[in-house]
Amino acid sequence: MESQDKFKQKLLDLRDEYNKKIGAIDADVHHKNEPVEKDFAEQATQRENDDVLNALSEEAKQIVRQVNAALHRMETGDYGICTECGAEISEGRLEIVPYAALCIKCAEKSD
Ligand SMILES: [Zn+2]
Repeated sequence: MESQDKFKQKLLDLRDEYNKKIGAIDADVHHKNEPVEKDFAEQATQRENDDVLNALSEEAKQIVRQVNAALHRMETGDYGICTECGAEISEGRLEIVPYAALCIKCAEKSD
């Protein structure tokens, strides 16, 4: 694919962005230096926040994994090819989701 370099840069930027996000979230979750004498409601809120942050962190890590997989497919020459059916993934789709492993048809099927 001629435009692969363009997507590679996007992937690297994306990975940077999400790694920063993960770092910030994890720093937040582990930032437990405040006194523990909070009332129960506050503790519950804190725990809910942590759940949300953990979910966000997990989501971001998932994306980083997908980005890494896409970068790997670039090396093996499989980038832009659906891992499910072998069809070419449209550039329009890669513009939006540069780490897409599935063509739009297969992505819709798995939803
Ligand atoms: Zn497909």
